[in-house]
Amino acid sequence: MRKLIVAGNWKMNMTLQEGIELAKAVNDFFDKNPTDVEVIIAPPFIHLPDVARSLTGVQLSAQNCASEPKGAYTGEVSAGMIRSCGARYVILGHSERRTYFKEDDNLLHKKIILALGQELKPIFCCGEVLAEREAGNHFNLVREQVETALFALGAEELSQIVIAYEPIWAIGTGVTATPAQAQEMHAFIRDLIRSQFGDPVADDLTILYGGSCKPSNARELFSNTDVDGGLIGGASLDADDFIAIVLSF
Ligand code: PEP
Repeated sequence: MRKLIVAGNWKMNMTLQEGIELAKAVNDFFDKNPTDVEVIIAPPFIHLPDVARSLTGVQLSAQNCASEPKGAYTGEVSAGMIRSCGARYVILGHSERRTYFKEDDNLLHKKIILALGQELKPIFCCGEVLAEREAGNHFNLVREQVETALFALGAEELSQIVIAYEPIWAIGTGVTATPAQAQEMHAFIRDLIRSQFGDPVADDLTILYGGSCKPSNARELFSNTDVDGGLIGGASLDADDFIAIVLSF
C-alpha cells in the first residue's frame, strides 16, 4: 500500500508567529481527528525549529537544501542542518527554484543524494510549462527530468522519494490540470519508474499532484488511481482549506 500524502508548501509566506499559529491549527486538528494520510508542512527554513516544537503528528519539510554538504557557502542551508531541526522531508526542484534560481536536474540529483544521506525524504518536483504542453513535448520533458535526477539512484534510495508532478502552468494560476491530465502524467511517471526500478518500487511510489489544488477540486483529483495526494501552495496558508484538502481522500 503506498502512502497518501498532502504536503503544504508555504513558500516565502508567514511571519514566525503566523507560522506557528497555522502549524498548531493543522496539528491540533489531526491530533483530534487522526488520519492515515501523511500530512506535511513546509515552512521557510528560519521557522523550522520553532514549528517543529509545535508538531506532534504532522510532519515537517524544508522547501530546498544546499547542493553541498557544508562549508563556505554563505546563505545556504544544508541537508544536515534541516534534519537536525526535526524535518523528515525536503522539497527539491520546485519550479520556482528551477525558474528563478536556475536549478537543473543534474544539480537536483546532487541535492537528492545529500538529502538521502541525512535521512531526509526528497519530494522531487517535475512538470512542464504551457508552451511545452501545447507543443506536445510534456511527456519528453518530464521523462528527461525524472531520468536525469533519479535514474542513477538505487532501488532502495528511490523508495525514499516522493515525486510531485506540478504542471507549471497550473501553479498559483487558478488553472488546474484536469483529473484526466493529472492521471495520464502520473501513470506515465509510474511506468517510467517501473521500467528502471521494477514493480515493487513503482507500485509503492507516492506521486503527488500540484497546481491550484483546493478544497473544491481535491476530491476529483485524488480519486485517480495514480494520484496519491497533493503538493499544495496557496491553499496551504489557510488551515481550514488545507485541512479540507486532506479530508478529500
Ligand atoms: C506549488 O507551488 O507547489 C503549488 C502547487 O502552488 P499552488 O497550489 O498555489 O498552485
